[in-house]
Amino acid sequence: MKSFKAYLLHKTQNKIVGSIQEMKTDQLPNNEVIISVCYSSLNYKDGLILNGLGNLVKEYPHIPGIDYVGTVIDSNHNSFSTGDWVIGTGFRVGEIRWGGYSQRVTANGNEIVHLPENMSPFQAMGLGGAGLTAAIALEALEKQGLTPEAGEILITGACGGVGTFSTMLFAAHGYHVVASTGRMQYRDQLINLGAKEVIERSTLSKAKERPLKRARWAGCVDTVGGVTLSNILSSMNYGASIASVGLAESPELKTSILPFLLRSVNIIGIDSVFYPIEKRPFLWRQLTNIVNQDCVRNILKEADLNNLNSLGKQILRGEIFGRVVIKITD
Ligand code: NDP
Repeated sequence: MKSFKAYLLHKTQNKIVGSIQEMKTDQLPNNEVIISVCYSSLNYKDGLILNGLGNLVKEYPHIPGIDYVGTVIDSNHNSFSTGDWVIGTGFRVGEIRWGGYSQRVTANGNEIVHLPENMSPFQAMGLGGAGLTAAIALEALEKQGLTPEAGEILITGACGGVGTFSTMLFAAHGYHVVASTGRMQYRDQLINLGAKEVIERSTLSKAKERPLKRARWAGCVDTVGGVTLSNILSSMNYGASIASVGLAESPELKTSILPFLLRSVNIIGIDSVFYPIEKRPFLWRQLTNIVNQDCVRNILKEADLNNLNSLGKQILRGEIFGRVVIKITD
């Protein structure tokens, strides 16, 4: 195929406009592996990029899509051969590099992993960077000594991509998950994913009153930041850790240092973008069990490149439940 279709973002008079365009293969950046993309997905960061927010894209025209799965059609890298199924997430693909909302993408061999056995391409993008991030958060908290016996684990932004997969993953590993959401209409679905309790988001996001409150949480995966994170800090158990993943509420954090000094609380930063490639296959295999659960079907929806304009706005408004997989090939 000498030409292919891609969703291209242009900047015109400080406005970002996206449309499906016919592109030539020789326009692609010269990397080791050429991939025919089967599916991509919709992430919060894609929403920012589709709307020209967050200063994530430096040059236009730009092909967004921060993750993808597809087959290798040409390779100069020893680990990958024509016909191999591969997953790409992170390494600033879809941000400063062209991404997965395209029938063709190029990658370096040290930025992609093989699709694990027992995981379909659709499931891989159901998980996408969000699923991988949930697995990194679990690994990070367990490295700090967290065990299921420690007590309740709080997951914020529970209806989102990272939130739903964190809920499932921690529950599958035997943890008592408390899911926080602003959309209590999805309570039953969150329980179905493994949450033991669902709490209303506003109970955590009220303006902060005291630097230390009754200790409740043995661990936390926080996808929202802001006042919520500040309040969670005040309610962590002695020595407990928070995996700080996202900023759906706000990137600001105003807090007192008392939870650190008097309760030995930790905040661990989670970055999936540059998470080492050699450690990724293990986490993807771990996610195989999660994505094969029956309840996953209810959190995955399929859309295509024609829907990106509206989906990009919906995800920023917090209106998407679970994950949207973007079909790329016809
Ligand atoms: P989603 O949009 O799928 O989920 C975000 C969720 O946050 C929403 O579903 C909603 O959950 C909640 N939310 C939305 N707006 C607000 C608000 N104003 N205040 C409080 N809660 C809100 O996003 P993702 O799961 O893809 O990503 C979540 C966050 O994690 C983003 O900030 C993203 O950039 C970040 N991220 C970071 C990664 C890393 O490597 N550090 C990797 C992946 C994502 P509910 O309705 O249940 O309250």
